[in-house]
Amino acid sequence: MIQVTKPFLPPLQEYQQYVEQIWKRQWLTNMGPLSSELEMRLKDYLKLDHLLFVSNGTTALQIALKVLDVKGEVITTPFSFVATTSAVVWEGCTPVFVDIDKNSLNIDPTKIEAAITPNTTAILATHVYGNPCDIDRIDHISKKYGLKVIYDAAHAFGVQYKGKSIFEFGDVSICSLHATKLYHSVEGGLIVTTDPELLKKSALMRNFGISGFGTYGDLGINGKNSELHAAMGLVNLLHIESILEKRKELAAAYHKNLKGLHVVYPVWNANSAPNYSYFPLILESEEFLLKVVSELDKHQIFTRRYFYPSLANSLPYLPAKQFTYTDDISKRVLCLPLYHELTKEEIHLIARIILRVQNN
Ligand SMILES: *Cc1c(COP(=O)(O)O)cnc(C)c1O
Repeated sequence: MIQVTKPFLPPLQEYQQYVEQIWKRQWLTNMGPLSSELEMRLKDYLKLDHLLFVSNGTTALQIALKVLDVKGEVITTPFSFVATTSAVVWEGCTPVFVDIDKNSLNIDPTKIEAAITPNTTAILATHVYGNPCDIDRIDHISKKYGLKVIYDAAHAFGVQYKGKSIFEFGDVSICSLHATKLYHSVEGGLIVTTDPELLKKSALMRNFGISGFGTYGDLGINGKNSELHAAMGLVNLLHIESILEKRKELAAAYHKNLKGLHVVYPVWNANSAPNYSYFPLILESEEFLLKVVSELDKHQIFTRRYFYPSLANSLPYLPAKQFTYTDDISKRVLCLPLYHELTKEEIHLIARIILRVQNN
């Protein structure tokens, strides 16, 4: 059986060493020493001045919306994971969808201005599969209209844009460190901003707004993460280079083995390089995709229609809306298995099955 993804698991002894430390200290959560160490090491690795380790990517999004005082309408993409949209609704705001660019699969910046109303306060854009949005144009629009920008960079761990961490862009960027992501702490998330005031406020919000004994500096929530999760993040960070290298090799093997397949790949931002967080194919038709999925299923090989369906016509709490490219591409996009332990032989097999469906 080949799953679409498998969490990276480091050697157990490496994790156990941290667990022993935790047992000795008896400090389990609430910004403990391992959480602080993880924040420090991540800042070092990502070359960032500020970041916060939080409970998950969704809470990170909610804190981002709150800390920027986002209200009213938020322009966002219908081609993302549900949390991108649900966080906006959860915070009492209205998502206003804009179609994606058919090449990058990110929000189409040329369509943003038409969606702005007097109630618009922010743009929430996803770097889909880690591929950076058209940051320069989004930046330009946000300045022109005085809008906040939040990037959902859940897929973009380790991605650089113009030589800087992708997390530095926008007012706030968030990342998810969920077990299914390329780099993970089982559950976890990051809030990144270059603004020290926003960081301070987000840190307060992460801990119920508590600013001291019996004093409250702001409205808050429980966005803290535990020492056990931080330990996983610390151990996995020791392996990040080999994780990234392996995924690059596996992606190259897919490209080589899938030669001859009628397929389109998302076009990567020219100012950046991929982190291979996913291996998406845009196939010729939904009919062909369904045949591929069913044939792979028969061989116990599992793929994921990611993202399908469009968030603009599948959420019971929002009115349905159609979009030319999102609707079309979400029906034809398929993510193939990609994880650290996947082998080139397995990729060879997966590719052979797919090509056989096409050539029959
Ligand atoms: C995973 C993911 C999230 C949510 O992150 P969690 O850590 O699971 O809460 C948000 N947005 C995108 C695009 C994601 O892929």
